[in-house]
Amino acid sequence: MAKQQGKEEKKVKEYKPPKMCPKCNSRMAEHADRFTCGRCGYTEFKKK
Ligand SMILES: [Zn+2]
Repeated sequence: MAKQQGKEEKKVKEYKPPKMCPKCNSRMAEHADRFTCGRCGYTEFKKK
């Protein structure tokens, strides 16, 4: 992949707030296609 020049200042990352578990209200871990809660095991699949 070629590196583009002159774009070093425009590195705005989209801020995504962490998903909270609806069951125990703790932060959920994000995976490629789902969110999982490490506390209670709740899993929520991403919709596309
Ligand atoms: Zn939970």
